[in-house]
Amino acid sequence: MTMLIKVDPLKPAEDVLRKAADLIKEGGVVAFPTETVYGLGADCFNISAVLKIFEIKKRPPDNPLIVHIYDKKQLEDLIDQDYQKASAIIDVFWPGPVTLIFRKKSDVPREVTGGLETVAVRMPSHPVAQKLLLLSATPIAAPSANLSGKPSPTRAEHVIEDLYGLVDAIIDGGETPFGIESTIIDFSRERPVLLRPGPATIEEILKLVPNLEIPDFLLKKINEPVRPLSPGMTYRHYAPEKPLILVTNENKLDEILLKYPEAPVICPQEMTTRFYGRRTIVLGTLKEPFTIAQNLFHVLRTVDSITTNAVIAIGFEPKGILFSVMNRLRRAATEIVE
Ligand code: AMP
Ligand code: MG
Repeated sequence: MTMLIKVDPLKPAEDVLRKAADLIKEGGVVAFPTETVYGLGADCFNISAVLKIFEIKKRPPDNPLIVHIYDKKQLEDLIDQDYQKASAIIDVFWPGPVTLIFRKKSDVPREVTGGLETVAVRMPSHPVAQKLLLLSATPIAAPSANLSGKPSPTRAEHVIEDLYGLVDAIIDGGETPFGIESTIIDFSRERPVLLRPGPATIEEILKLVPNLEIPDFLLKKINEPVRPLSPGMTYRHYAPEKPLILVTNENKLDEILLKYPEAPVICPQEMTTRFYGRRTIVLGTLKEPFTIAQNLFHVLRTVDSITTNAVIAIGFEPKGILFSVMNRLRRAATEIVE
């Protein structure tokens, strides 16, 4: 049975969250909102609870989870290296939407890290996630709360759609503020590497970590060869069931529109008039690019309920948060026209 728990995202009531925390302590699996997307959490040190996450999501066992903490002190229980290299990032972005990878302590189960000797750690800023972590009194291992391969959930309804009946509880804290998964930086190597662009933009991160390596696979399609730096990055993701044609070359747009006369177009508010007479799905506005990230996964989830055999998405110039949006769109696309 799945307990549905509704909370005020800004001031979650403690007695209500305590029920969810008790479930975590007892080895249960609980979906909860964070400032990025909804997570599916279990006690990081309880192997059978962690394995339930993989089973429920149908997640490949080599795709590691992110461990969530509420206090920097908890790093001592998780990592086996000095985190000074990351202190500029920690000072600015924790709590917040940035995940850091370090060499792991041997106590951290390999089930959590997909067999790797490193562990991904994040301190979320969402009041619900923070309070749940505090009350559970253990680091919580949590990937996104979707079935493997589906877009990450940004609303409780998405979690219910994928996982109702499979998990012990779903905490409904409304829409998640950023709407895309955390930025991931690997500090376990000599030189820090960006593994996943997210809400904290590359421009912001580079100011704090000038020697950051930005691999070019971040803007490639998922089935192109990539350096296997981060196992999860090689899986197809976010994809609707219908073909998604991503157009980044404006000069080829008319040709694509002719080729797919019935296909709706996913585009920013500013471009809707360009597609007169055709169905458009508005992602947000270019004036506030964060709105585009916020709506992205909800839109990718709705695509399949629209009766058509393909959908066209308009690409963005990969700057700021839109770099992260383009990373997700490229991985969701069945065809990229560039
Ligand atoms: P999710 O929270 O569902 O976005 O999944 C977490 C993602 O974090 C995984 O798919 C990996 O790409 C990444 N990740 C977690 N732990 C590690 C690690 N130790 N090394 C590299 N990437 C990691
Ligand atoms: Mg995920």
